[in-house]
Amino acid sequence: MANQIITRFAPSPTGYIHVGNLRTALMNYLIARKAGGTFILRIDDTDPERSKEEYVDGIKQDLEWLGLHWDRVERQSERLDRYHAAADELRAKGRFYEAFETPTELDLKRKKQLNMGKPPVYDRAALNLSDEEKDKLRAERGDGVWRFKLDQERIEWADGILGDISIDAASVSDPVLIRGDGQILYTLASVVDDTEMGVTHVVRGSDHVTNTATQIQIMAALGHDHPSFAHHSLLTGPQGEALSKRLGTLALRDLREQGVQPYALLSLMARLGSSDPVELRTDMESLIEGFDINHFGSAPTKFDVRDLFPLTGRYLQTLSYTDVAGDIAAVGVPEDQAELFWAVTRENIETLHDLKGWWAMFRDGAEPVIEDEDKDFVAEAMGMLPEMPFDDSTWSTWTADVKEKTGRKGRGLFRPLRLALTGQESGPEMAAVMPLLQVVKARG
Ligand code: GLU
Repeated sequence: MANQIITRFAPSPTGYIHVGNLRTALMNYLIARKAGGTFILRIDDTDPERSKEEYVDGIKQDLEWLGLHWDRVERQSERLDRYHAAADELRAKGRFYEAFETPTELDLKRKKQLNMGKPPVYDRAALNLSDEEKDKLRAERGDGVWRFKLDQERIEWADGILGDISIDAASVSDPVLIRGDGQILYTLASVVDDTEMGVTHVVRGSDHVTNTATQIQIMAALGHDHPSFAHHSLLTGPQGEALSKRLGTLALRDLREQGVQPYALLSLMARLGSSDPVELRTDMESLIEGFDINHFGSAPTKFDVRDLFPLTGRYLQTLSYTDVAGDIAAVGVPEDQAELFWAVTRENIETLHDLKGWWAMFRDGAEPVIEDEDKDFVAEAMGMLPEMPFDDSTWSTWTADVKEKTGRKGRGLFRPLRLALTGQESGPEMAAVMPLLQVVKARG
């Protein structure tokens, strides 16, 4: 299958997925599914200190919760021999060199360059070291880092979101691909994986644009074409403020705990920042069908977590009683009232967590709200309220009696009664609320 589309989502298991990397996951997933291709979950775990198994499991749980199923999992920690083979090839081709500067020395060089108004690009001093000098440095400092020697020419690609990109390689430092302690770094591992796994499309955040430039050259040095690249804009808060520090609080598992539903999140994140409207979708097919990576813009994308709640509410309205029977039983609603309870609450909740409050209100009775001018009226009406249990005709019979007795009608009749019984100005149909009420506090 030569033309098969292959994408990957490549999280580092150093934390949980947040809304920022969800965008990356989702875009890659949708591209693969739309083309009937393959979606790989690649675990970028070459850093043994920071990578944690708990995050690998967490990332999988979060993707599964959203229904973003992968076709296979790859782990970089199991492919180290491949990366070493590529490193050998780069060495053999004269594109890899060992460098020994300490972080402090590099920092000093950068500062000097900046002072002289020059870009802080690594000066390639290590290229001039003789073998003897290298041996001496190695003996003093341990193994050096391995840098890829960029060809100093323009690196160009047609980006699926940013359009035509051209980066002068001379403005970029030769990237370190292997650390002094032998740890393979992401750039090399990613290049090897993307080529060997036949990845055809890479979508990632625009913080990776410079990486892409260097990766294109490394791929070429290893004799490979590069995949298509698209870099989505970074998310900002609603005011355009940087979100990077807050992303930790926007982990998918936190949102899930707050009651956000998968399709609310998917519907928002699959369209936000594109020219397509955000509409609630309740199935993956329609999300896939309407998705086009070229519709996304390069401007930073404003994200407001509050937008997820109305979408969640709308999603919940599409659910039938059987979909939520378990959640309703869990808050203690007796089975014979559960279906009516759902009919009454479904349009009045934002998340399933709100069910608890509604049931508490029905079970324990709401704190009545009675305005001064309605005191006598409400007292009189309460005196006419029949005994429990109420049924679905209680509201109409009772309010008809009250109307006749007091002469009140319309809003002046219904509003104070609703406020007295539910403490709320508006809400579900009172006719349906009545049979659920177990206590009327306003009766005194
Ligand atoms: N592990 C990298 C990251 O999370 C992957 C970037 C890429 O998609 O190549 O940033």
